[in-house]
Amino acid sequence: MIDLRSDTMTKPTPGMLKAMMSAEVGDDVFGEDPTVNELEARTAALFGMEAALYCPTGTMSNQVAIKAHTRPGDEVICDQSAHVYQYEGGGIAFHSGAQVKLLPGDLGRIDAAQIAAAINPDDLHKARTSLVCLENTSNRGGGSCYEIEAIKSIRALCDEKGLSLHLDGARLFNALVATGEKPASFGQLFHSISVCLNKGLGCPIGSVLLGTGAFIRQARRVRKVFGGGMRQAGYMAAAGLYALDNHIERLADDHRHAKQIAAALKKTDYIAGALPVETNIIIAEIKAPWQPAQISAKLKERNILALPISPTQIRMVLHLGVTDEMVERLEKELPALVD
Ligand SMILES: *Cc1c(COP(=O)(O)O)cnc(C)c1O
Repeated sequence: MIDLRSDTMTKPTPGMLKAMMSAEVGDDVFGEDPTVNELEARTAALFGMEAALYCPTGTMSNQVAIKAHTRPGDEVICDQSAHVYQYEGGGIAFHSGAQVKLLPGDLGRIDAAQIAAAINPDDLHKARTSLVCLENTSNRGGGSCYEIEAIKSIRALCDEKGLSLHLDGARLFNALVATGEKPASFGQLFHSISVCLNKGLGCPIGSVLLGTGAFIRQARRVRKVFGGGMRQAGYMAAAGLYALDNHIERLADDHRHAKQIAAALKKTDYIAGALPVETNIIIAEIKAPWQPAQISAKLKERNILALPISPTQIRMVLHLGVTDEMVERLEKELPALVD
């Protein structure tokens, strides 16, 4: 089976499992899990940020950040396709009592001029704009990456207007590997960053929220309120440490595989086109009269799993469970799928 539905489909590698099984643990709510403490300290240092908080999911990490940055009745600005708005169960309203202003970005990327025009004036009729959320890479943008200069302009605007800037960096390591930017450049530009360990980095669970010491102290309270205070979480955090050591550089393989598969898809009769492939995600447009569900059924007959994500699109995501040999098989089988 070649499972391309999501980069969450990974299972721990033997090396990762070994690291997990031999982790030193303690009660993390008491601050006594040495492995969680090490993961938090190392991730914070990597991004040049003061502190970090280990969370079970990226959704919790984003929502904890939004709660810690806002007050009820505030307004949050993000792209219309943002995960924090589309795929977190209405969490911004549910947890933070905040409302959202959606912007039509370019493949999930919004710019400073759009944001400037969307910030509410200081007027008692209006919601108080307090937070901007960016997503890098953008999931629904097909794994698109921000230019660092664009983020610098956004941060300058946020400073001028007194707004906080949060990054949903579920796939930030994919962006770093693809663009060659340094983690610390991102650490300087955001008030908070959420990075997922359970996507391309191959951990079973886990995300890390980064910010200032004061912000993370507040976030730690919020995580507890959300039910995310975990005990011997070091068994999971050990997977994160292992991934930081072993699974970052290999993301380049996923990016190469994605380009190879996208090239094979372009030769087929059932694909009309695809979003630009910048990292590990392929979003392809199915050519009528074919339907995404029909194509994914055909793929499944050949033990290939892909996800229909809209009435016209299918998604494939690369990860460490996909080998060179599997990609070679895809290059042969995809063009012959619907003869
Ligand atoms: C997967 C994802 C998350 C968080 O997902 P969890 O499944 O809750 O860990 C957040 N943002 C983006 C863009 C994602 O793709």
